[in-house]
Amino acid sequence: MVDDPDGWQWRTRAVRTGLKRTGFQETSEAIFLTSGYAYDSAEQAAARFAGEDEGFIYSRYDNPTVCMFEERLAALEGAEACYAAASGMAAIFATFAATLSAGDHVVAARQIFGAINKVISDHLSRFGIEHSFVDAADLDAWRAAIRPNTKMLFMETPANPTLDVFDIAAVAEIAHDAGALLVVDNVFATPVLQNPLKWGADVVVHSATKHIDGQGRVLGGAVLGGRAFIDETIRPFMRQTGPSLSAFNAWVLLKGLETLDLRVRAMSETALRVARFLREKLGAEAVRYPGLEEHPQHALAQKQMQAGGAMLAFELPGGRELVFRFLNALKLVDISNNLGDAKSLITHPASTTHSVVPEEERLKQGIGEGLVRLSVGLEDVQDLVADITQALRHAGVYGGNGA
Ligand SMILES: *Cc1c(COP(=O)(O)O)cnc(C)c1O
Repeated sequence: MVDDPDGWQWRTRAVRTGLKRTGFQETSEAIFLTSGYAYDSAEQAAARFAGEDEGFIYSRYDNPTVCMFEERLAALEGAEACYAAASGMAAIFATFAATLSAGDHVVAARQIFGAINKVISDHLSRFGIEHSFVDAADLDAWRAAIRPNTKMLFMETPANPTLDVFDIAAVAEIAHDAGALLVVDNVFATPVLQNPLKWGADVVVHSATKHIDGQGRVLGGAVLGGRAFIDETIRPFMRQTGPSLSAFNAWVLLKGLETLDLRVRAMSETALRVARFLREKLGAEAVRYPGLEEHPQHALAQKQMQAGGAMLAFELPGGRELVFRFLNALKLVDISNNLGDAKSLITHPASTTHSVVPEEERLKQGIGEGLVRLSVGLEDVQDLVADITQALRHAGVYGGNGA
């Protein structure tokens, strides 16, 4: 554990780990908005570049506020080390680009965030990196996809937007048998509800833009893993290519970490209640929420996650036209492709976040025209249910007395 000499509990780490005060003894972490650092002498500058003197060189490399965020997030994920990035995709692309070379092969879950699918299939392939997509629930499919040049397995659980849950420990074993790394995108579960490293993953990637910020303000991302992997593989790539997190954004995200546990647990409780309401209105097969007993991987979710999370998806009985009527009738919940905000946000993945994924591939992932994804916020559950009820009625999903 990083900088945790007192064996602090999770909630204490979320507000204390990584804090470094200046001579002013400020209680809140300072924002170091500086691109450079001055040296006492030319000799010191030379020593610092030679790695013989500890200290900051340039904020593309390191920044005190960014380091505080990295230390704190590492402590919350149970990782030895963390390197922050300007966005989740910057962190994820860096993980691929720093680890894989031309001629290597990556196996990725078919059920994956749209932009990650495109990075693997359109961009990595331009650099001669091969890939296979597999149904992440099918362990034989993972095994069958392994080639002698497979260097990485990549998955996301719960998956965006279908809320499928996949077995981290089982896929980690397949990766390790093949001498490959397992990278897990932990955005949907957050470090509050799931720590993939504990289940055998080698690397965790985050979009801090989502629940870590939690109030829809800034973009950020992070790669977490072993000290050697972060220092020797990720750090040099990040320093030289420059997708650095800004000090201001790091400060916002540090403050987000302080309340992450409270927010995610409250949202998760609300999400469970909204999921139960939707189950009653639309039928159990139409609702996808890992916290519902009817979820196909409910038992696995209970083992690997502490609660069902703040995200849910549901299938409306109709196509795009009906879904759009429903979305447009919502008065409280905002239509937005973002997620993890204090405000509840709803999206139609087929026409937005996953519109770049070819239709055939989309359908294989279970993303039909009727699927809607809801990021549950911090509003009162009564108001959310009332809003969803009136919009369902407006869309003609059901008449009568409603909820
Ligand atoms: C948003 C998201 C990302 C990308 O993060 P950005 O901060 O938008 O770059 C990656 N994975 C998942 C699951 C996401 O929801």
